[in-house]
Amino acid sequence: MPIKTGAEYVQSLRGRNMKVYLFGELVKEPVDHPMIRPSINAVAETYDLAVSEAELASAKSSISGLQVNRFLHIAESAEDLVNQNKMQRKLGQLTGTCFQRCVGMDALNSLYSVTYEIDEKHKTNYHKRLVDFIRMIQEENLVIGGAMTDPKGDRSKAPHEQEDPDVFLRIVEKNDKGIVVRGAKAHQTGCINSHWIIFMPTMRLQENDVDYAVVGAVPADAPGITYIYGRQSCDTRSMEEGDIDAGNSKFAGQEALIIFDNVFVPWERVFMNGEYEFASMLVERFTCYHRRSYVCKTGLGDVLIGAAAAISDYNGVPNVSHIRDKLVEMTHLNETIYAAGVASSYQAQKTKSGNFLNDDMLANVCKHNVTRFPYEIGRLAQDVAGGLVVTLPSEKDLRSPETGPILRKYLRGRKGVDVEDRMRILRLIENMTLGRNAVGYLTESMHGAGSPQAQRIQIARQMQLEYKKQLAKNLANVKDDTPSSPEQSDYFQRVFKISRKG
Ligand SMILES: Cc1cc2nc3c(=O)[nH]c(=O)nc-3n(C[C@H](O)[C@H](O)[C@H](O)COP(=O)(O)OP(=O)(O)OC[C@H]3O[C@@H](n4cnc5c(N)ncnc54)[C@H](O)[C@@H]3O)c2cc1C
Repeated sequence: MPIKTGAEYVQSLRGRNMKVYLFGELVKEPVDHPMIRPSINAVAETYDLAVSEAELASAKSSISGLQVNRFLHIAESAEDLVNQNKMQRKLGQLTGTCFQRCVGMDALNSLYSVTYEIDEKHKTNYHKRLVDFIRMIQEENLVIGGAMTDPKGDRSKAPHEQEDPDVFLRIVEKNDKGIVVRGAKAHQTGCINSHWIIFMPTMRLQENDVDYAVVGAVPADAPGITYIYGRQSCDTRSMEEGDIDAGNSKFAGQEALIIFDNVFVPWERVFMNGEYEFASMLVERFTCYHRRSYVCKTGLGDVLIGAAAAISDYNGVPNVSHIRDKLVEMTHLNETIYAAGVASSYQAQKTKSGNFLNDDMLANVCKHNVTRFPYEIGRLAQDVAGGLVVTLPSEKDLRSPETGPILRKYLRGRKGVDVEDRMRILRLIENMTLGRNAVGYLTESMHGAGSPQAQRIQIARQMQLEYKKQLAKNLANVKDDTPSSPEQSDYFQRVFKISRKG
């Protein structure tokens, strides 16, 4: 029976043979761990939304013929991509965190076209294998983790130049049944909450890196896989009594370091095996999808704007002009992110394989805005909230018969506002700007899908300076045929040469 609801999804994660380390110890059952559970709850929302708002969060797939969760759907039109964005914003609003499924969705969509083009050149059959895999996960309604980022060691060196060859994931053995891979993937969102992990190269590769040009899918509990859980700021608050200090007690994101210690992958789950010249195409198409997937952060922005508006109301200054102006500024920044992302989706083009790929320039502009604007929105939220956002006493103090009445007397805002409600909103702002969900709202916004410079490189590549110079010269009546200054073309050559994801 395929998984349908969030509750069924949570159940599906139980009893697996996962090797997960947290605080130096093996976790018996991740589902029941109070620090891990909020991240599972966030993924569960992606199932429940597909039931409660089927039009938004599911789609009819030509691959399986089924109505499938939108996170497993291969985009068959520009509208499909726009609907992804609408769903992402909605899930950001519902959870206030990273709901962890965009990487898998974007990996499937980029691999769909790239495997087709590898087959076209090398007469391989990766595309059919991938389509069979997609049909299976659609039928069973599973969660896919997308593992691209390697630990990378010395950033100035290619994979084959590294002192330790394992700092990039690679093939260490091939036989008639499949391949064996070794290495690791860092910062892996939602990996422990996934049923399958797809691993992919993280950057452009050369001939010497042929063993690193590998894509495959493995069950998340495959033998040889170990997870070391990533700490998040204030994460142990989820293990305390009460639900105020956690800020958002129900939902959180998840990242872990995945170690692949000689993991076997059967041939039917291998989607690239040495075609190193396609690594850059895969990274570029994946990041093209993924950089506009960051409109999810506008859903989180909506929550934070709401929290800022609520706290200014509780503080008795909702209509003061500079407060209103700050709320307008936050909204403007938030909608600017959304505008670029959704425009990128609307401008999608059909690939050779038949699926749709959004506009790369606008996707990069979207993501580049995401590396900045949430920080400014967070700064304004802290401005509006006041210093209590970081000096607030604990929930235990509120509940204590000695200190509780004192806090209720001195932490009141405007008349009629419950002190506890005021504390809850302040904790939510702390959670999103300094605490657990600042991982998803701020630092993931910075580095996820590539650090800011990676977007600047893509923007530089596509900014068509020669064409734009010609436009200016036409209007100014300049009739010169002088070539570009050597410094300018030199600069761009250097920029293109280091083009890579992270
Ligand atoms: C919260 C979070 C979730 C994530 N989720 C996922 C996920 O699910 N799947 C996944 O695959 N990845 C994921 N990532 C990884 C993300 O893609 C990387 O963080 C990003 O690509 C940057 O890599 P890095 O963190 O190793 O930083 P680094 O590569 O160390 O970058 C640090 C700085 O050095 C610069 N730099 C690095 N190399 C060079 C170079 N050769 N030349 C010039 N400058 C350089 C960068 O521009 C940056 O400014 C996630 C990251 C975060 C923070």
